[in-house]
Amino acid sequence: MASSGCYIATDKCVKCDVCVNMCPVTPKAVDWHVGNKKNAPNYIKLRVVIYFSRDRIASSYPY
Ligand code: SF4
Repeated sequence: MASSGCYIATDKCVKCDVCVNMCPVTPKAVDWHVGNKKNAPNYIKLRVVIYFSRDRIASSYPY
């Protein structure tokens, strides 16, 4: 399936927690939102978009 943007390859996930721990957004965009670790984590796309938009705006300022 073609996809734009980021995605989690749930069939390859080993539930290691690295992506959840590394997610810099508060509240986390990538998390165990379903409440258990039987499935791969998922992400809330809106939080990812806001984070990258904020980063892009911040980096456009010369000071
Ligand atoms: S928990 Fe996150 S970093 Fe670890 S394998 Fe699954 S998707 Fe990848």
